[in-house]
Amino acid sequence: MGAVVLYDQKWFSSSYSEARARFLDLVSSEGGVHTELPITALGPDGGPLSIDIGWFGSLEAKRVILHISGTHGVEGFAGSAIQLAAIANGICTPGDADAVVFVHVLNPYGMAWVRRVNESNVDLNRNFIPDGSPYEGVSDGYEAMNSTLNPQSGPRFDFFLLRSLAKIVQHGYSTLKQAITEGQYVYPKGLFFGGQKLEEGPQKYLQWLETALGHVESVCAIDVHTGLGKSGEDTLLIDAGKDDPVYQKLHSLFGDRIAPWDADQSIAYQINGGHPAAVCRQLGHAKVDFITQEFGTIAGLKVLYALRQENRWHQWGDGHLKHSSKQGLLDAFGPGTDRWRVAVLHRGIELLQQVQKQTFK
Ligand SMILES: [Zn+2]
Repeated sequence: MGAVVLYDQKWFSSSYSEARARFLDLVSSEGGVHTELPITALGPDGGPLSIDIGWFGSLEAKRVILHISGTHGVEGFAGSAIQLAAIANGICTPGDADAVVFVHVLNPYGMAWVRRVNESNVDLNRNFIPDGSPYEGVSDGYEAMNSTLNPQSGPRFDFFLLRSLAKIVQHGYSTLKQAITEGQYVYPKGLFFGGQKLEEGPQKYLQWLETALGHVESVCAIDVHTGLGKSGEDTLLIDAGKDDPVYQKLHSLFGDRIAPWDADQSIAYQINGGHPAAVCRQLGHAKVDFITQEFGTIAGLKVLYALRQENRWHQWGDGHLKHSSKQGLLDAFGPGTDRWRVAVLHRGIELLQQVQKQTFK
């Protein structure tokens, strides 16, 4: 036990199926209750894909910490490692009336196939459009960049970074970042596509939330992402502006790591159909704080370049996992260095402990 075991890069798995097997073993050996939400798509080894949930503590809990990994598939290696380390080391041992619930890989297809999106090329953090609202629209900025972002050919060198720099000079970085990343519902093979309906995984997840958390009074959710910000450092994104009381409360608890989803005020951008708002809507009866814990990896433009290369390979190449664009995506969303991985574990565990102190006090 202790620091050596906890902050060790061995918690990072090398594939989705390995991560899943380890999660199921630990949930069972540490006395958690397992629920699985299988999806229809299969993994590259032909194996099943599912969202797995490990529930620790009272099934009737009024106060719950909800910890989610892999909303963006390939980003799930970091969140999964935090979850495995936390469970194995008994980090979250709730009191009799509380529960800590781990949702292991919300987008299992993406993690298994090394994609940020799911089996329908859908970005799940743009897919949770409220009931009755249409899945439509694309920003003018995205429209203008579409042919640069999504060329209809396999990956090859084409001065993308230089061309992007020229556009940034022309339009401004935060304007362009917002326009490209907010989500689009027009180009099904393009980046940041939000889908045409609520996807299978999210549908099952929302149903599960309603059933399993129907009696809960307060929830603090942590959704672990990677790819935005300074390498190895985390930003805690919340769905509230700087003058909102929610922002002020969380800022007083967690300090300057707290940042709004705003292209001008933080590393992030506002999104349509986001996961945080969906959880708040689904658990409307409860008080919900939703924190997106975002770990930085490499520079934003390089992340975008890696996404673009992998998407070209998937859409217009043969998509197999041995291609350099897959390795590029792994490096962009989960660098393999000891330094980065240990930093992620440190901050991931620390946030869980801080949240536990606040939620269960
Ligand atoms: Zn993400």
